[in-house]
Amino acid sequence: MDGQTMTAAPVLILLGPPGAGKGTQARMLEEKFGLVQLSTGDLLRAAVAQGTDAGKRAKSVMDAGGLVSDDIVIAILRDRLGEPDCAQGVILDGFPRTTVQAQALDQLLAETGQRIDAAISLEVDDTAMVTRISGRYTCAACGEGYHDAFKQPGQAGTCDRCGSTDMTRRADDKAETVASRLEAYHAQTAQLIGFYDEKGALTRIDAMGEIRDIATEMGAIVKTATAR
Ligand SMILES: [Zn+2]
Repeated sequence: MDGQTMTAAPVLILLGPPGAGKGTQARMLEEKFGLVQLSTGDLLRAAVAQGTDAGKRAKSVMDAGGLVSDDIVIAILRDRLGEPDCAQGVILDGFPRTTVQAQALDQLLAETGQRIDAAISLEVDDTAMVTRISGRYTCAACGEGYHDAFKQPGQAGTCDRCGSTDMTRRADDKAETVASRLEAYHAQTAQLIGFYDEKGALTRIDAMGEIRDIATEMGAIVKTATAR
């Protein structure tokens, strides 16, 4: 540090149910702003692979079939945030999941004069999301994608591209499965969203629109966060 006032790198949290396009948006932010996306799974795997102290603790818990505790995840995150590539800022994905974790994260960031600059909630219309995901099917022969409502082949059941009639649907894409996944997401994150809303850090983005429009909104949030 050169003694000048340092602008702390922005720390963003990305919230959204499966299918809301979190991964796509995070990649755009990485490319455009040099932010680094940190997902809990990747963090854990990397720490275990590198054999850091926290990584070793995580490994022994996982080897025993247990759940890695919050304090281990926080320790891993502390190590990771100190690495040079995080200097432009980070996007947290999958952590925190609970308000207890969110409070621990606030404490960790306070150590370096940082804070959560924005918790971005990608909001979906559940009914439309069920239609969107459950309608998908794919040609098993060539991989061409189709949709019951939005993209039917010219001749029902026959692939436009290769003529195959072998169409497949992912078991995970069943309407009931998608609906219960959304329900679980809302139950899991309701408190967390309330936590950031109360702090004035929550921004809701309509994730049902065009990817490019969503990216523009996300970019504006990052710029505001960076300028603080
Ligand atoms: Zn095909």
